[in-house]
Amino acid sequence: MNAKSASGIVVRGTVVIDVEACKGCDLCIEACHPDVLAMTTDMTNTRGYRYPELLVGCTGCRACADVCPDFCFQVFRFNEPKTWTSEGGLQ
Ligand code: SF4
Ligand code: SF4
Repeated sequence: MNAKSASGIVVRGTVVIDVEACKGCDLCIEACHPDVLAMTTDMTNTRGYRYPELLVGCTGCRACADVCPDFCFQVFRFNEPKTWTSEGGLQ
């Protein structure tokens, strides 16, 4: 999804992902109901595992953090919902 096609999507939170701690198990992908996590296809961490990247539309629900066996996620929920702009930022 590019910045323009994501324009207008409401974002309620964000995540910081410790990609080096990831073992590529895919559990977070299945747990993320808004479907805003995607595993890398051509990038791996230093241990050779693919890892999740955040797309636009996180709700801050914490499902990824709750399911990850390796505590890779820090979740932040915004006080007010934000909107993704066509320039690729939040307002
Ligand atoms: S906090 Fe929720 S919406 Fe955001 S990436 Fe994690 S599971 Fe997906
Ligand atoms: S659940 Fe954790 S260990 Fe598994 S792929 Fe997601 S971030 Fe990596």
